[in-house]
Amino acid sequence: MTAKPPQDSRSLHDAVQSTDWKSFGNLSLFLAVHLACFVAIWTGVRMSDLLVCLALYLVRMFAITAGYHRYFSHRTYKMGRVMQLVMAFVAMTSSQKGVLWWAAHHRRHHKYSDKPDDVHSPVQRGLWWSHVGWILASSSSDTDSSLIKDLIKYPELRWLNRHVVFPVFCMGAFSFFCFNGLSTLIVGFFWSTVLVWHATFTINSLSHVIGSRRYDTDDASRNNWFLALITLGEGWHNNHHHYMNSCRQGFFWWEYDFTYYGLKVLSWFGLVWDLREPPRWVLEGHKRRPSKSAPEKPQPRQLTEAA
Ligand SMILES: [Zn+2]
Ligand SMILES: [Zn+2]
Repeated sequence: MTAKPPQDSRSLHDAVQSTDWKSFGNLSLFLAVHLACFVAIWTGVRMSDLLVCLALYLVRMFAITAGYHRYFSHRTYKMGRVMQLVMAFVAMTSSQKGVLWWAAHHRRHHKYSDKPDDVHSPVQRGLWWSHVGWILASSSSDTDSSLIKDLIKYPELRWLNRHVVFPVFCMGAFSFFCFNGLSTLIVGFFWSTVLVWHATFTINSLSHVIGSRRYDTDDASRNNWFLALITLGEGWHNNHHHYMNSCRQGFFWWEYDFTYYGLKVLSWFGLVWDLREPPRWVLEGHKRRPSKSAPEKPQPRQLTEAA
């Protein structure tokens, strides 16, 4: 009979020391929000709770796609400073970290799409990592300010970015006090939060794996009609990687893009403006602007203004 080897207390100590407690805490919180959804078994589900859930899903998904993505990350249209703050606040109620953090990480994604330095590539690190692993990992918690110099100059955005819990708490309190109390908090707020999370995350994971490729981009991005439906237009991801400067991501009339339609409506009221469209050479599949349609030489007056 062989005696058991003595327990190596030093290796146990090292294991505890090397445990990534911040990632573990993020994962625990993430799972707790999912578990909270099951409290509906005891609170019940009213029709008004479901309507709040639908409304919060649509409003917050719009704020993520129109705000975090198409405005703060890509600047594909313009809006005033108050509207910019409102958009950032509503997007942050979805609990996807701060506005500056989101924009910096998304710009990095486009800079290194599906290359080793892409922070959430399913091609490089698998589906689970690209869907949710990266956002919970402590290694992704920092914000690279060099990528968001155009945004970091606004003190109100810096403040919001530091206080990520505040907008989430406001939205939770609004759900609780303005409707049916706990059942609206669970069904209206928690259910829609989880749904917005996973719908948004599919763009980082599934839209680089499942779907068709109209354009021969240097990454694995796909167009996927189902993901476009649940994310209000973000599923036309191959279009977007082909030409990220367009506010409209459904390049053709049959590619529904509800975020773009919503922004169009806001533009009629003067709340947003200068929505960028994809140019003709982009729709035709060229990687670069053909030389014959290159911009004309600047006139002397323009040269003076630029100098
Ligand atoms: Zn993008
Ligand atoms: Zn992508």
